[in-house]
Amino acid sequence: GRCLAVFTSGGDAQGMNPAVRAVVRMGIYLGCKVYFIHEGYQGMVAGGNLIRQATWASVSGILDDGGTIIGSARCLEFRERPGRLRAAKNLIDHEINNIVCIGGDGSLTGANLFRKEWEGLVKELSEKGEITKENAEKFNYLNIVGLVGSIDNDFCGTDMTIGADSALHRIMEAIDCITTTASSHQRCFVMEVMGRHCGYLALVTALGSDADWVFMPESPPEPDWEDKLCEKLKITRENGQRLNIIVIAEGAIDKEGNPITSEYIKDLITKRLHYDTRITILGHVQRGGTPSGFDRILGTRMGTEAVLALMEATPTSQPVVIALSGNQTVRVPLMLCTLAVAQAMKEKNFILAQELRGRSFKR
Ligand code: ADP
Repeated sequence: GRCLAVFTSGGDAQGMNPAVRAVVRMGIYLGCKVYFIHEGYQGMVAGGNLIRQATWASVSGILDDGGTIIGSARCLEFRERPGRLRAAKNLIDHEINNIVCIGGDGSLTGANLFRKEWEGLVKELSEKGEITKENAEKFNYLNIVGLVGSIDNDFCGTDMTIGADSALHRIMEAIDCITTTASSHQRCFVMEVMGRHCGYLALVTALGSDADWVFMPESPPEPDWEDKLCEKLKITRENGQRLNIIVIAEGAIDKEGNPITSEYIKDLITKRLHYDTRITILGHVQRGGTPSGFDRILGTRMGTEAVLALMEATPTSQPVVIALSGNQTVRVPLMLCTLAVAQAMKEKNFILAQELRGRSFKR
């Protein structure tokens, strides 16, 4: 049968394990030999025992585990051609030319570059005698399918990324804990959530927690926001509200593009209103814990679809990302997803780039 490999790369997210499990089991079900590549691109470049065959049992009991059991890493070597050359050799040594990459924007951009270079890499390896002529011919193309694991829901082309729903659950739990204490002491809480380029988590957190205000990168506040915010808080207190919640994405900015920080907001409220104001930065708590039911099922659906897409791929077909669109798993061209954002960034149209990250394509 054919060989395929799965790896997780970049920041981890709850729901990566359900996706890994689905890839392994669907692959085996369809008669493939399935490999784990441990530690992301690092394992691909290093090879050796970081590339190991997966069995039906090796993914038992991982559906409810957060993070990723096969490890994730950032890898500088893969950013350079010599690193990718070694990665290609390691894959061909295992007769692998079908890979499922579970990662964010960066990981999928890397995968796309790798695929484009593949033919040249194989030629070079063959000329240097590092792989046989026979293998060079047999594995002269690379199929890749991407799954987006990211708690930020920051990928252009899908309604939801794997991990975003679980992160929202973590945040809701934390806010529920804080509101009881905040209300007892009439406090104001500034809750900082993840999202460097994408305000999805901040926005849905605000909606789900009855927050007074939300700051997010896509929607910088009007220049007089400081007056407006203080006025709003004052009115709520006068109406008998005992606690205030202000949600801020880590990437929040003002109209000039300058960062708005939790500290700045706290100082503003303390100075002007003299409210007892506290900052809670949730940080990595948001990535932790078990995947939500939604993410277990999303990972499972995307993982199975990824294997089907690989099996149907031909040497000339374009690489795809498995996306959720209108609650259907669909295949969208990887180029369309990463290029649209890259183009907007190149034009320094950061607001458009941010909006694209939160957008899915119409079916
Ligand atoms: P994420 O996938 O979560 O966006 P990163 O941007 O850190 O995380 O990317 C993860 C890894 O993917 C990097 O450490 C690197 O090995 C690889 N990678 C990212 N961008 C590129 C690129 N442009 N070319 C080659 N490899 C890349």
